[in-house]
Amino acid sequence: MFRFLIKGLWLSVVSLAVLFGCAPVVFDSSLSSDEAIYTNQPPDVIASIQERLVVVPVRYYGPDGVVHQGQVVVHKALEGDIRLIFERIKRSRFPVESVLPIAHPLIQKKALYGLSPDTNNTSAYVWRPIVDSRHLSKHAFGLAVDINPRKNPYIKGDLILPPGATYDPSDPETLLPDSPVVKAFKKQGWEWGGDWTGEKVDYMHFQKVPPNLEEWIESYHSE
Ligand SMILES: [Zn+2]
Repeated sequence: MFRFLIKGLWLSVVSLAVLFGCAPVVFDSSLSSDEAIYTNQPPDVIASIQERLVVVPVRYYGPDGVVHQGQVVVHKALEGDIRLIFERIKRSRFPVESVLPIAHPLIQKKALYGLSPDTNNTSAYVWRPIVDSRHLSKHAFGLAVDINPRKNPYIKGDLILPPGATYDPSDPETLLPDSPVVKAFKKQGWEWGGDWTGEKVDYMHFQKVPPNLEEWIESYHSE
């Protein structure tokens, strides 16, 4: 009953705001930089990577048709790209379910440190190795973004991540080669995991390694 009343009240606020021409914004995430970058991190995280991360506020349409504001944690070299790409995503009205940093309590509640999160949350930085590898994922450097993971899974043979996710091209949250989201990332020089033709495909995944950072990444992989 209480939830019903709250929902009704919220819908009235939205309708009134639209009626009077001021579109409301739903704040999904408003963590401080310290909270988003330094809290809820696994013990083996590397400080020299963390100190290159920034928190970028972004706006997007949710599946509810309302503008939301979330936060993306990325390498500072990609801050401009992220602002531009999300402006284009918003303009296209492609629905993004939520954009919370992995450190956000709502994500941590579902998956400690954000590993294998069974959510449809869009995020960039997360401290983890590549699947089936000891090397760090591009996400661990803040150089990769996953969009709507439950609608755009990682598929390698029988392995599907997140578990139980499906790829349905007719779903509005699903990424296709001609999707405005895919075009927006590619225009800025990002690679899309949906284009991979090897043993795996990763529809949710976009990455970009600026040439001047290649050596920096390698320095963490030399063993
Ligand atoms: Zn990814």
